[in-house]
Amino acid sequence: MNKKKLHYPSTHTAIIFLSLIIFALTNLPDNLPDNLFILMNRNGHELDSINLVEHNLSTASFIQKITAKSDADSIIISNRIVDEVHPANLEKTVRELSSFHTRHTESEFIDDVAYWLTEKLQSVCGTDVYVQNFTYTPEKTNDDNDSDVNSNHRQRPFSYNLKNLVCEKPGSTNNTIIISAHYDSRMENINNNTARAPGADDNASGVSALLEVARILSNFSVYHSIIFVLFSGEEQGKLGSTHYADYIDKKDVDLDLLINLDMVGFSSQGSNDFLIEYDNGNVVQDNDRYSLVVASFIKGVASKYTNLNTILGVLGNSDYLPFEALGYTVIGFHDDGVTKNLNHHTMTDTPDILNYEYLTSTTKLVLATILNLDKLITSSNPDYAPLFLVKIQ
Ligand SMILES: [Zn+2]
Repeated sequence: MNKKKLHYPSTHTAIIFLSLIIFALTNLPDNLPDNLFILMNRNGHELDSINLVEHNLSTASFIQKITAKSDADSIIISNRIVDEVHPANLEKTVRELSSFHTRHTESEFIDDVAYWLTEKLQSVCGTDVYVQNFTYTPEKTNDDNDSDVNSNHRQRPFSYNLKNLVCEKPGSTNNTIIISAHYDSRMENINNNTARAPGADDNASGVSALLEVARILSNFSVYHSIIFVLFSGEEQGKLGSTHYADYIDKKDVDLDLLINLDMVGFSSQGSNDFLIEYDNGNVVQDNDRYSLVVASFIKGVASKYTNLNTILGVLGNSDYLPFEALGYTVIGFHDDGVTKNLNHHTMTDTPDILNYEYLTSTTKLVLATILNLDKLITSSNPDYAPLFLVKIQ
């Protein structure tokens, strides 16, 4: 646990926080975002700016323009941007990524996967992609001895050079949101690094959503700095995210929120149910309330911009945990495939079992969430609330 991140809000901010939390707890799930916006507003102004600056407009002139806009206008603008999510792009990424024989962290294909994804991320991101190399040395298990006998596995090396792939999109503030997804896959036997493991839902779906959001946002400037990161080695024990969380912490990034996408394309029996996972306990307790308020906020965003039936649930076991353990506010987006998708971690987790309309909706939710969180900070009017909703400091 890193105490450095556990600063407490000022009294004034704490009172507003408390109001928000009480409000969130007593008013779920009806009309939360509208009312939250009203609560956010300290001076009786509409919280109306969409805070998006197209490349050909200077920030200053655009801010002047947008402060005159109504909330209805900002919703229309957000809707227009959210409609940029193309189902065909998502499906193409899922199919291409799943066509690698396996993306097992120890497989002979994992470097090819990383290179392919680096190019893909580079092509949509608008800024240089940073490849973070790190080394992982696995412990020897009983299964290793078994595999010597039945020799179904590739011989396990002493250590691996793994790669996280990172695109940092600077904002006009240092307030940072991380969108993350792991790109590795696995079979039932976690040490089987040679069998077919397409990992379409887990987690080509999350990768495809991340790439599509990065592509669309590359056309706009936003207040938040957004980091898109594709993690390696999640299935082997959150190796990439653990390494990256330490890096972010040491670099003292002003991280408001991490949203992790892990399995976001499988719709069980055509249902639009979708889990928004929030932090309840785990390693650090002080960040829980922020996570719950943000989850409630996202639920409201979903009802405005998508046809998803969002359900609040607690964090499972994915790449948000190393960040939670350092005191950051984290959220998970998850289709509940761990319990509902029987193909999960098998060779039948193929692109054909995904629902691309559903994946489009979950991707839209990622984008709409960023756009709506971005409305909560503005450098142009100090009377607007800063992003106290999600910020611990
Ligand atoms: Zn996963």
